[in-house]
Amino acid sequence: MTAIRPLVAGNWKMNGLHASLAELDAMRARALAAPPACDLAICPPATLISAAAAILAPAIAVGGQDCSELPPGAHTGDLAAQQLRDAGATFVILGHSERRADHRETDALVLAKARAASAAGLAPIVCVGETRAEREAGRALAVVGAQVAASLAADLDAATLVVAYEPVWAIGTGLTPTVADVAQMHVHIRAGLVEIFGAKGAGVRILYGGSVKPQNARELLGAAEVGGALVGGASLKAADFMAIAAAYS
Ligand code: PEP
Repeated sequence: MTAIRPLVAGNWKMNGLHASLAELDAMRARALAAPPACDLAICPPATLISAAAAILAPAIAVGGQDCSELPPGAHTGDLAAQQLRDAGATFVILGHSERRADHRETDALVLAKARAASAAGLAPIVCVGETRAEREAGRALAVVGAQVAASLAADLDAATLVVAYEPVWAIGTGLTPTVADVAQMHVHIRAGLVEIFGAKGAGVRILYGGSVKPQNARELLGAAEVGGALVGGASLKAADFMAIAAAYS
């Protein structure tokens, strides 16, 4: 089987104004001058998607950070998957732990959003991950396995699907799991994917996310079954983001 091409994706969260687009210019320049051996994507806030797509194409893809599970219609404040696609996005992050916590998003809702995203031609990046309490209780594998089973389904397109393992306690904290723990979880997620998708589950990219920095990227991304990174804080600066991507060189 051909090796999976890794993906390094940046999640800008609720950060970024038009003044921040200069960082995207710098990212594109670096990606063209020294292309890493991975795909690249930046998921800016929705207000910047069109501008980001115009700057980054074709070197770096653009993604949204959420979409509605519903088709376009009377839903004030929401964004349909078709609208993200129309703005230039090709990926969309779904079920990030901040959305699961802040907006009480359930696995069932994340699955509905993933179906809407796929139908609109977006590649869903579905996030899963345990809390600190769940890890300390020895329940990390069970919790993440259940999230995978309930947030994904066989009718999704395995060829475009991406899964991101993001331990909640590692996001924005500077803490990371051991490489052995990352590998154990990614192997566990892979088994869950094969259960859902059969042989196609072996080709789904599984990203690690949670305090990935230039200093730890090579080690974390070298763990078994890690097919790239979902990067929060360190994706705001071109130098840091591209240094992480350079782990694949
Ligand atoms: C994230 O929120 O997706 C994330 C990985 O954040 P950070 O890299 O800042 O921990």
